[in-house]
Amino acid sequence: MPIQQKNTTPQTQTAPEPPSPLEKVKGQPQLLRGMKDILPADQPYWDAIRTVVEDNAHSAGFSRIETPILEAANLFTRTVGQETDIVEKEMYVFVDKSGDKIALRPENTAPVARAFLEHGLISWPQPVRLYYLGPFFRHDRPQAGRYRQFWQFGFEVLGDAHPVVDAQLVYLAVSIYKALTVPVTAHINSLGDSVCRPNYMKILTEYFRTRRNSLCEDCKRRLQKNPLRILDCKEPDCHTVSQDVPQIVDHLCEQCRDHFVRVLEYLGELEVPYTLNPRIVRGLDYYTRTVWQIMDEGVEDHYGQTDLGGGGRYDDLLQQLGNRPVPAVGFAGGVERLMMRMRERQYVPAPIRHPDIFLGQLGEAARKKSLKLYDTLRTLGIRAAESFSKDSLKGQLETANRLGVKYALIIGQKELMDDTILIRDMESGIQEVVDFKKVVPEIQKRLAKTNGAVPPEKRVAV
Ligand code: AMP
Repeated sequence: MPIQQKNTTPQTQTAPEPPSPLEKVKGQPQLLRGMKDILPADQPYWDAIRTVVEDNAHSAGFSRIETPILEAANLFTRTVGQETDIVEKEMYVFVDKSGDKIALRPENTAPVARAFLEHGLISWPQPVRLYYLGPFFRHDRPQAGRYRQFWQFGFEVLGDAHPVVDAQLVYLAVSIYKALTVPVTAHINSLGDSVCRPNYMKILTEYFRTRRNSLCEDCKRRLQKNPLRILDCKEPDCHTVSQDVPQIVDHLCEQCRDHFVRVLEYLGELEVPYTLNPRIVRGLDYYTRTVWQIMDEGVEDHYGQTDLGGGGRYDDLLQQLGNRPVPAVGFAGGVERLMMRMRERQYVPAPIRHPDIFLGQLGEAARKKSLKLYDTLRTLGIRAAESFSKDSLKGQLETANRLGVKYALIIGQKELMDDTILIRDMESGIQEVVDFKKVVPEIQKRLAKTNGAVPPEKRVAV
């Protein structure tokens, strides 16, 4: 029978006040412009996104792929396109010590396609379904929801031309946002292919040429090189000019038209909320046929930072990389922007699992005995917290209280001599002496009956 003991804890000296985080120390290094620290408070959101992405990916038969952050710069110039904003204006490029021109990856479709070819995934049963989660880099003007390093989760399905795959990927994307309580609509369009797009480009160029004076300087240039990009220009004047633009869906060849109609039919079957949006052109050269952007529901257009993700088919990209044609389709969503939306919508992330118990000790021999017990408990899956580097028991128990653990296991001088241990109930403050050999089954029994951390209002002072 455990003996009940009075709650007595030795006094300690108080720790010095830490400097205020608001006081900037002169000369102290600062975060680079456009970069973002992902702090502990962000992690529950981050974990929720990661879990939902992984669960959805695995249940839809996707395997994970991670490619390096650095790639040869020409991987992107050849695929994303020399004239695109991403490559022309935003890509971080440098020459490394071997004299090679290197880029910090601005997106992941081209790297995944490279890896697919390089590692012979082309000989796997097709389609190959891959997903990723990682950081990307674009030297853009920073603002809310736009950073120079940002994270994306993404999916690529390589080796399948069927329109049902496009619809399934839109469905997968929408399901992820829905699971994270952010209701979205897919804005969808078709860009045609090498058969029908050139003709539409002529029509588009003609339309904008007669309205050239109203276009911004960038779009005047785009008119020569890539008139499609004028459609998603964020300048209000360009936006107005493109209001009555002839729509590409009216100029698709029969195959592209049939593909698009079938994608929409499958989306209907899957009850995916979508809207046709002729302005969705995506900023990258490699897209063919279906393209889409995921918009937060209720947000009118995509001329702010309102798109949460985007995707499309890229049937010609693998051939551009020097291989035979491999039809493919992909999607990428931004993590930071999604986190912002989850916060705005008061998403409540699952609480982080806190430690179950705390190990307290007084004296060097007790510290060693505790250290051994710590290892035993962790091996058994019991989350043990500690402050082994601290001497003061009061300070240690204050930490235990802050962590909200249900029990503290304390070894002092007396317990060391008797081969016992104190089990302190952090809610009631009651301490019991238990035979050291029995502490593990005893604590397992007690933890089985508790449900999580002790809430702050129930923690007794030490
Ligand atoms: P994109 O690769 O441009 O189609 O972008 C796909 C998604 O990644 C966007 O919808 C955003 O959620 C996110 N994203 C793109 N660029 C940035 C950026 N500079 N900062 C934060 N998120 C971004």
